[in-house]
Formats: sequence, C-alpha cells, structure tokens
Amino acid sequence: MHRKTLRELADGLRAKAFSSVELTQAFLDRIQAHDERINSFITVTAEPALEAARAADARRAAGEDGPLLGLPFAHKDIFCTEGVKTSCGSRMLDNFIAPYDATVTAKLKAAGAVMLGKTNMDEFAMGSSNETSYYGPVRNPWDLDTVPGGSSGGSAAAVAARLAPAATGTDTGGSIRQPAALCGLTGLKPTYGAVSRYGMIAFASSLDQAGPMTQSAEDAALMLGVMAGFDPRDSTSVERPLEDYCAGLGNALQGLRIGLPREYFGEGLDGTVAKVIETAIGEYRKLGAEVVDISLPNSHLAVPAYYVVAPAECSSNLSRFDGVRFGHRCENPHDLQDLYVRSRGEGFGAEVKRRIMIGTYALSSGYYDAYYLKAQQVRRLIREDFLKAFEQVDVIMGPTAPGTAFRLGEKSDPVSMYLSDIYTIATNLAGLPGMSIPAGFVNGLPVGLQLIGNYFAEGRLLNAAHQYQQVTDWHRRLPGGF
Ligand code: GLN
Repeated sequence: MHRKTLRELADGLRAKAFSSVELTQAFLDRIQAHDERINSFITVTAEPALEAARAADARRAAGEDGPLLGLPFAHKDIFCTEGVKTSCGSRMLDNFIAPYDATVTAKLKAAGAVMLGKTNMDEFAMGSSNETSYYGPVRNPWDLDTVPGGSSGGSAAAVAARLAPAATGTDTGGSIRQPAALCGLTGLKPTYGAVSRYGMIAFASSLDQAGPMTQSAEDAALMLGVMAGFDPRDSTSVERPLEDYCAGLGNALQGLRIGLPREYFGEGLDGTVAKVIETAIGEYRKLGAEVVDISLPNSHLAVPAYYVVAPAECSSNLSRFDGVRFGHRCENPHDLQDLYVRSRGEGFGAEVKRRIMIGTYALSSGYYDAYYLKAQQVRRLIREDFLKAFEQVDVIMGPTAPGTAFRLGEKSDPVSMYLSDIYTIATNLAGLPGMSIPAGFVNGLPVGLQLIGNYFAEGRLLNAAHQYQQVTDWHRRLPGGF
C-alpha cells in the first residue's frame, strides 16, 4: 500500500480495496516501525487520525467523494492544529497546544484528509538541513548519514520513506523545493498569495508560502487544489477564482519554451548534478519543448538580499515570543526584563538568535536605508529579471540545489549552509511559483530539477512536471530499507 501515490490510494478507496481506517493504520504502523531511524515526526496523532479515518469512511459510505477524502498526510509542525501541539521545531513552543486551526489545516480537514501527525523541521523554518530543530536532526532515508534538507526536512523524509503518502511544507527561501530535491520528491511552492498564511507560524511574512510535498505532480495538483484559495483572514491572500490544477496535466508539451538561465549553471554547481539536469532537459526536448538560453543578471544578489529581508522580518515576527503570552517562560524571573531575557534566551536556539540579531541590526535607525531598503530595491530588480525572461519563455528550468544531500554536520559555517538555497531564493523574493521534481541520482542520492513559472502559472508547472513523469520513473524509486 505504501508504494502508491495519493491518486492511486484514492482509486483504491473508491474501489473499496481498503478503507481509510485500514490505510491510516498501515501508515501509523510504518511510522511506528521506521521513524526511529529518521526522526521525521515530532508528534504522531494516532487516535485522532483513526477517528478522522472512520469519519471519512462514513462520508464515503454516504455517497460522498473528493480528491483527498480518507487519505492520510503528514503536516509540517508550523501549521496550527487545534488541540495538538504546534512546536515549530522550537523549545519556545514545546508546550504550545494550538487553540485553533490554520486555514490550510481547516481546508485539509474539511476535505476529509487524515492527519497522521506533525513533522520535524528546522527551528522556526530557519535552515537547509533540518539540523536546527529542538527535537534533533532528521535523517535522509536515502542515506542515514546525510541530511534531508530543510526546513521542511521532516515532511520530506516522511514521504521519501513512505511513512506518509504526502505532506505539507512551507517555503520562505527554498524549504519545500530543496528538501524535495534532496529526498527525491515532488515539491511545489505556489505563487505568493495563492495559499493562506493564516495560522501558519510566520518566519518572513513577505516570503512564506505553503505547498504540497508529494510523490508525483498529479498528487501535488490534487493537494494544491485543496490548500489554495482566497482567505479573508490573510490580507496577502489573492482573490481569484479557484482553479482545477488537474485539468491541464495531460496537455502535450509541444512548443513549450523552456528558459535555461546561464547564472544557474555556473560556478558552484556540482558537475555531476549539472549532467543530470542536462539529461532531464534532453527529455523535455524529446517531449517537444524548445530550449532557450536566458539570463537572470541579478541572480548573484538574491542570497545577500534574502539574508537582510528574511532576518529583518523574522526579528519582528518573533518578538511576540516574550514569555508572557504563550510559549516558554523561564523559572522565577526577578523582574520583567529578566523574564524577557531569560525566556527568549532559553527558548530560542543559536540560528534563530543569529537571525534575530542580524534583523534587528538591519532595521535599526541609521541602518534601515542602507540595508533593508536597499534589499527591497534589489528584490525589485530580481523580479524584473524574471518578468523579462517570461516575455521569452514559458517555464524556467535549472537545478534546485547546487549538490545532493550532504552529511550531517558538514556545513557548520552559516554562509555555506545559506548557499544551499542559491537557486531557490530568487523565486521567493519575486513571489513566483517554483517546483522541484526528481530527475535522477548521483551516487545513490536524488537530484531535483527546478521549474519556475510566471505568477499563478502553477497549472503550467504541474503540466510540465506531469508530462516528464509520464516518460521517467525517478519519482517512483524508493530508498532501500523502507
Ligand atoms: N534555508 C533558508 C533559510 O534558512 C530558507 C528556509 C525556508 O524556506 N523556510 O532561511
């Protein structure tokens, strides 16, 4: 059962080959048997999951159907879940039971999807390796000595090991796409504003976006269809008609114009990864696509601009964790100042503190214009590069990450870690949709091909990904031992 995609499992439920309760139990058993090795879950909600499965079976028995009705999934621990611990990978929220559901949680619940539990992640979604979690590192099922990527590393590892058929993730600078690439999954970061951020714990509000992490593009389309949509409770949510992301999956790619940015194939890219990407592009040519060389001249400014904007916004967002309203509180504070200082000092880990300090500095009087404002201007230039490229091409392709999964502890210097997202960050700065799909292996480790589209072109990305997955089987490979 665990080898099936969401779509295949839904067919099984429809054909009564198994019930949602049986399906849910099978995945709970897999979590029990295998998660000890990879540490992908922070919380497993076995009882509520079985209860939700029974409810889904009853709805189906009453004649209802739906793309996710009765299908299990794993939920990144950044989404508020009523009555269930929502830690964001931090000691700060280790004791936090969310009193309400995030919009994404509520939508998945209403669709009858069955939450198996909450997945491990880098603390407050800051990281590219899932090593900054208060709950310990996650391991990559393809090689247990390597990282799964981050920050949605728990979601990625859980799906790669098939402890869940699909999961949610969030992506501020690459956190859906990079772990999807390192774990051999399909991951989609939608256009900024496509999916509600209400109840999703904020890291950098102008960049954060939630999306699906799945086995296939078709599954991503099914999940996105449930997750996306206007939400009056999120002021950055975009009001537009709901889309059927599955409708165009079957379209032929004849005449599709693919842009290859020369900046994504230069120095820093592992040569063996580059080979895999070239082969994947060759596959697209066979499918009828045209390949055009393009340039995104301000690409080199993306990482520096991001590491001003994201810390600035996080320093503001994380100021709410003060030991007073919710989250960790130190013992016996002797005055208010002591309460703030020790609660935050104890509650946050090193990477989060580093970002808060950088962000506070960048926003302080006298430095705001030099750093934050300048970064926002660079952001505009990056966006313009993309818009210019999209006058010429339909989809931009390149590597998702500069290399394959690296070893735990290997990137101890923050800057080398930050460079893991060198090809994904610009998309967030511009607010564009981006996707990663499995395109091959190097030394037994998965390589991801990145697809970037124009605003709200998720359907086109999913179509391009799905067509590739009709002629390749990289996305169907499973790591040994799971
Ligand atoms: N790795 C990047 C960071 O550390 C992006 C994280 C993310 O997308 N949440 O900020």
